[in-house]
Amino acid sequence: MKVPLLDLAAQYRSVESEVRAAVIRVLDAQQYILGPDVAALEAELAALTGVPHGIGVSSGTDAILASLMALGIGPGDEVIVPTFTFFATAGCVSRTGAKPVFVDILPDTFNIDPEAIEAAVTPQTKAIIPVHLFGQCADMDRIMEIGNRHGLYVIEDNAQAIAATYKDRSACSFGIVGTLSFYPTKNLSAAGEGGMILTRDEALAQKLRFIRDHGQNPRYYYHFIGGNFRLGGIQGAVLRVKLKRLADWTAARRQRAARYDVGLRGSSVQTPAVLPCCEHVYHQYTIRSPRRDALQKYLTDAGIGSGIYYPLPLHLQPCFRDLGYKEGACPVAEKAAKEVLSLPISPEMTEDQQDDVIQTIRQFK
Ligand SMILES: *Cc1c(COP(=O)(O)O)cnc(C)c1O
Repeated sequence: MKVPLLDLAAQYRSVESEVRAAVIRVLDAQQYILGPDVAALEAELAALTGVPHGIGVSSGTDAILASLMALGIGPGDEVIVPTFTFFATAGCVSRTGAKPVFVDILPDTFNIDPEAIEAAVTPQTKAIIPVHLFGQCADMDRIMEIGNRHGLYVIEDNAQAIAATYKDRSACSFGIVGTLSFYPTKNLSAAGEGGMILTRDEALAQKLRFIRDHGQNPRYYYHFIGGNFRLGGIQGAVLRVKLKRLADWTAARRQRAARYDVGLRGSSVQTPAVLPCCEHVYHQYTIRSPRRDALQKYLTDAGIGSGIYYPLPLHLQPCFRDLGYKEGACPVAEKAAKEVLSLPISPEMTEDQQDDVIQTIRQFK
């Protein structure tokens, strides 16, 4: 049976008529840039996360970059990031002129290790960017405590965990800002690129609104160096249609995860650890196998899609070579990179498809 890692066409079919109507509405109104749908989306995501100010931006990457710019982070500053994450978390730090300081992760959740953060703080440290990897929050109590004690900004990279909670509080609600991505593969996805910044800080929200539009206010008067980080009106309209389904889609992901947990019990793979204080939203369902590459080939041969997030930790990437990290610097992440495999978990996956994935993994010797 064919089981794709994700099936964007199936999701589109489930919302097709509403999405088409929303797009046509924006075209008819000629509201291409920002506009009423983006403003409404900002308010709706503020309500979802319990964080009062939403600023729609051009991508999850730009949400991180604009946040760092608004917080005045630049040359001479250090920003602590997990080494096991998507590139943008650290790439944005380098783009401001600041230095990313890579730290290791925890072996069970794959999230940033608070002890490693503590050990990496120096007088130059300005911020920490915890990532809520694969859909589960990092240890926000510990991270906020470390951040507050050292006077550091905490920027939550929440590209993968929209609607996740930690001790009944929403992801994005802990740090000075939280960022979202609406890349087509994310749990809430646009028809193209998009992102959002959430913050409780009203003055920072105002600054971010200027920065997403070159720092201007009013037009052609520039208070800050910003960029073109604006979210398009069509994306705002599409996202509002899909946001109405997000709770159902998240429940479907969680239900499929629970089925995998049971179905894979006693097999050769290790299923994801979920902390009791966290509600995981399973952007990815990521297992570990000591024979990961052979398992992936076995699944591929059976028509089952899977993904490796991420094959090489960031501290070992060629572009960060001059930072001087060597193999062995973050051993937990380096081991995870060799063992992780993400299985299909889309809300559109059928029970038959999932049973096929489970049976195939159980047959793998
Ligand atoms: C997807 C992602 C981003 C970047 O988002 P884009 O919208 O693709 O720019 C940043 N951080 C993490 C952890 C991501 O998964």
